[in-house]
Amino acid sequence: MLNLILFGPPGSGKGTQASNLEDHYDLLHISTGDLFRNEMGNDTPLGLKAKAFISKGELVPDEVTIGMLKNKVNSTPEAKGYIFDGFPRTIAQAEALDSFLEEKNSAINVLVALDVDDNEIVKRLLNRGLTSGRADDNDEEIIRNRIVVYNNETAQVYDYYAKSDKSIKIQGIGTEEEIFDRLKAKIDQAS
Ligand code: ADP
Repeated sequence: MLNLILFGPPGSGKGTQASNLEDHYDLLHISTGDLFRNEMGNDTPLGLKAKAFISKGELVPDEVTIGMLKNKVNSTPEAKGYIFDGFPRTIAQAEALDSFLEEKNSAINVLVALDVDDNEIVKRLLNRGLTSGRADDNDEEIIRNRIVVYNNETAQVYDYYAKSDKSIKIQGIGTEEEIFDRLKAKIDQAS
């Protein structure tokens, strides 16, 4: 089994590259952001709960997010491995993911972080907001808050996996194809 974490700040291109990697390595892409948007679109109780946080650029509480992630993995036992996109976003989520995979005699093989600076991120997200229909991409204040949250709560997940030599950083600026090539090179080396 190959299990990857695609890591990086909001707007670093995780979703785009996860789709490329999903096809190339025949893995299942799980984006917690997409799962939440699906729940919100269907006005489910989970979606309504998540909306209160997402609309402010804050993280949805760990227990809600972890429960949703586990359900998704448990409902797709045929997968050959997973690309986790937007998860884990806190140390508690990383610990929960590790024990969950361990119970399945599996583990994270590698975390690949896309390195993109804050100004580029704000530019990309505002641009994405013009067409994505995502309210959290339309307001610079919410975008800035997402970056603050990333720096305060999420960035440490990189260090958490670095302790077991699983974290790798690549330059997240360039064409989609260049970045995809960089990712494949690193993943092939690590797996
Ligand atoms: P981004 O483009 O910001 O990376 P995502 O689609 O991954 O966006 O996530 C959108 C929002 O959903 C986040 O800002 C956050 O509010 C919520 N969210 C997604 N994943 C998680 C998570 N693992 N833990 C808590 N909240 C999350």
